[in-house]
Amino acid sequence: EAILKLEGVSKTYRTGGFLGRNKRVTRAVRDVSLALPRGGTLGIVGESGSGKSTLARCIMRLIKPDAGAIRLDGTDLATQSPSQHRASAKRMQMVFQDPYASLNPRRRVGELVAQGPIIHGTPRNTALARAKELFALVGLDPAATDRYPHEFSGGQRQRIGIARALALEPEVLVADEPVSALDVSVQAQVLRLLAELRERLGLSIVLITHDLRVAVQVCDLVAVMKEGEVVESGPIGRVFEAP
Ligand code: ADP
Ligand code: ADP
Repeated sequence: EAILKLEGVSKTYRTGGFLGRNKRVTRAVRDVSLALPRGGTLGIVGESGSGKSTLARCIMRLIKPDAGAIRLDGTDLATQSPSQHRASAKRMQMVFQDPYASLNPRRRVGELVAQGPIIHGTPRNTALARAKELFALVGLDPAATDRYPHEFSGGQRQRIGIARALALEPEVLVADEPVSALDVSVQAQVLRLLAELRERLGLSIVLITHDLRVAVQVCDLVAVMKEGEVVESGPIGRVFEAP
């Protein structure tokens, strides 16, 4: 059964329009329907501007779609009460393209990983101890939680970003271009980590990428986006069959 389901999701941006001039309407996402089975990895692949990030922001409820439903375990996220919403917000976490941009340079990385759980009521010491466990889980030295973001390489910082997303024990990870800022050799390591975590933790993953080679490495399902629409979707071996 699908843990995450999108039904006819659309999002249009309206920009400009000062005194009616330079008005622009961008139909960034058009009538997208998709399903992510529990434990699966769904790749959303498309060129820059095809609507992938907008779709990710809709899934994470960072923006509100104009139409359609996004269901987590069958429940439409838009119809939830605030307390239900807080609970389901924890169940989906995001991994960003450039973790450095989202890691406060003045905070120790252990605190950055512990921050979410602390906000949600976990005692500080418990959350910091858990951050060390999460470091080990993502292949970092647990003793390194006392360091600062700039002391880590790009690949290590992305591991910190993943640890941070995992700290709230989500069921769904939405990874928006998680390796496109990394060297190719490091990309494969981070993608392997995502695949391992899915296996070990029973995660379900939405992986957004402009790079087909990235999707092929870890996804079992894929949706191809073009100008806001899903133009093809299905098992990755079928969609990208050798001609
Ligand atoms: P992708 O992630 O595939 O690069 P985006 O979702 O970022 O695609 O963008 C889809 C389209 O929506 C593009 O034409 C982009 O310029 C436009 N767009 C994205 N974000 C905004 C925004 N906040 N305001 C107006 N237009 C936007
Ligand atoms: P991405 O392709 O990763 O979404 P972009 O460079 O397209 O990156 O967008 C970066 C930021 O600018 C995003 O927050 C997006 O919402 C915003 N943005 C993108 N296109 C537009 C646009 N046409 N008008 C206003 N904001 C935009």
